[in-house]
Amino acid sequence: MTNRSKVEEPDQTTDSSSKETWEQFLEEFKESVGQFQFQIFGNHLKLVDRTNDHLIIGVPRSFHKEWLEEKQQNKFHESIHDVYGDNIEAEVKITDSELSNESSENNVKKIKDNNENPSNSSDSSSDSCFPFARSNNYNPDLTFENFVVGDTNEYAYSAARAIANDPVNNFNPLFIYGGVGLGKTHLLHAIGHEVDSNWSQANVKCINAEQFTNEIINAIREGDTKEFKYNYRNVDMFLVDDVQFLAKTDAAQEEFYHTFNELYEKGKGTVFCSDSPPEEISTIEERLRSRFGMGLTVDIQPPGYETRVAILQQKAEQEGLSVPKKVVEFIAENLAGNVRQLESSLTRLAMKTSLSKERITVELARKELSDLFESAESGSRKPLTVDTIQELVADHFSISVADLKSKKRTRAIAEPRQIAMYFAREHTNHSYEEIGDKFGNRDHSTVIHAQKKVESARDDNPDSELVHHVRTLEKEL
Ligand code: ADP
Ligand code: MG
Repeated sequence: MTNRSKVEEPDQTTDSSSKETWEQFLEEFKESVGQFQFQIFGNHLKLVDRTNDHLIIGVPRSFHKEWLEEKQQNKFHESIHDVYGDNIEAEVKITDSELSNESSENNVKKIKDNNENPSNSSDSSSDSCFPFARSNNYNPDLTFENFVVGDTNEYAYSAARAIANDPVNNFNPLFIYGGVGLGKTHLLHAIGHEVDSNWSQANVKCINAEQFTNEIINAIREGDTKEFKYNYRNVDMFLVDDVQFLAKTDAAQEEFYHTFNELYEKGKGTVFCSDSPPEEISTIEERLRSRFGMGLTVDIQPPGYETRVAILQQKAEQEGLSVPKKVVEFIAENLAGNVRQLESSLTRLAMKTSLSKERITVELARKELSDLFESAESGSRKPLTVDTIQELVADHFSISVADLKSKKRTRAIAEPRQIAMYFAREHTNHSYEEIGDKFGNRDHSTVIHAQKKVESARDDNPDSELVHHVRTLEKEL
């Protein structure tokens, strides 16, 4: 990994007054763009060369350059002219040759270009040095290239890129929070992909907090936590999704706390995702919450109209689906919720037209997606709860909610229960553990099993009765 210092010295040919001027510029620019953005991007600026009318400024990565030349163009040049005078031209160059991989070139808002997936990093030679490296199942689609950047996710995106490119020297930890389906997991996997491709020997651990909980509980049950500790405390980067799902048990929180502390002290990069900001995660003990909030906390909000259009265009292109602009705009206007809903709308249209060979029109979208639009609208009014799901599912199958929570295992009860558990997991923010509790104190593994069963039926057996019920209920939900 690189070992860049925060503000690097100008090169030896420049004298001390030139160094002072440079620092003056950095100060002024920092004030102008704000501490937050400067922390992510500005800290990496370096004065490479200077003549009477020309400055060459070095930055490590292409997205730093984009930030300076596009996003902060005015403030950048104003600060330069204020400090160096009006006649000076500033040129920005990417100077960091230590990070050789250029997969992050030209990433921002790439909607039209067909990208190659950069995740095919199968350099196995390094795996033997780090027995746990590459054990992460990153979703190959969740890359920075495939992430559409807009006003509401820009900071999270930039911070994620920054930490992926420089896990050691950046702010630590990075804490990303936001509602369901807004791209948190996407960014987490994107960091994983990027670190893998830039730093082939890195031992990255990317897990869900529930998985962490299960592993520590199993290790304790088996009376051997040594291997667990070794696995988690010797990583170069620790990426944890859904930290709100870290179990309330002392053992899990205690172990998590010590894992974090040890990695933090060793200067290892950590990234956490959650549905709410650190101080609001009531299930997590105070000392851990304050650790989470120690670095940089960024949020993701639902995308605005323009971003929704861009996301739909990108997804359609990825799927090889030809969707007229008018239809894209129509969907974007009617689905203001999360990105997952946008994806569902396209999947539905794709399925519909692949069977009927119909063309995708606004009329077809209106007809096929009306329930999605309605649920997006009512979803923005009232979030679904497990209770509502249970009532709806019980009603649909003409059984009682008590049946769903009972120990009965006949198919007539067990299948509706599995469907209800599946919906509870898909449509609420509850952990497997919490959902299990709400279904008559069942184990979290029962909920996982139910979710897998419905998912695989949807994939492998779309004409089955079970999937038919799921679809009907989905419309009602
Ligand atoms: P979260 O973890 O916040 O619940 P995910 O990261 O799982 O959400 O995102 C849900 C889906 O939406 C994923 O398929 C993801 O790829 C997609 N998605 C979210 N935000 C974006 C974005 N800005 N650009 C492209 N796809 C996105
Ligand atoms: Mg997620």
